[in-house]
Amino acid sequence: MTGTEDLLVRRHDVGAALAPLDPRKREPQTRVAIVACMDARLGVETMFGLRPGDAHVIRNAGGCVTDDTLRSLRLSQLQEGTREIVLVHHEDCTALIDPAEDLLTCMARLGDSAQLPHTEALRGFLYTRRGALREVRRM
Ligand SMILES: [Zn+2]
Repeated sequence: MTGTEDLLVRRHDVGAALAPLDPRKREPQTRVAIVACMDARLGVETMFGLRPGDAHVIRNAGGCVTDDTLRSLRLSQLQEGTREIVLVHHEDCTALIDPAEDLLTCMARLGDSAQLPHTEALRGFLYTRRGALREVRRM
């Protein structure tokens, strides 16, 4: 069985629990957009207790702020009403040499971006090897 086939079996098992997409609830209830690394060990939804409709979750290798991340955040803010941004990097990341340093670089890039209308509520967190979430602040 391939990984995709395994997922489809799991999907069949939980199928009845899936709710239809409600077009009236497009705006995330927390008004938060989370940018995180795609590492499969990071359970972002579990980490923040997210339910469907709570937040936008944008993931890529490293949780980096790329041009595409900025495009997604701009859409998130302008079309779907998010006002806060949470960045999540993690230790033991294969995409980053120094995740804490890169987190600061990403936060600075977001803060300096002219593309985003809302960067005042921006927070960055480092997920540690021990499973703790440590906030990293800009100086
Ligand atoms: Zn990573």
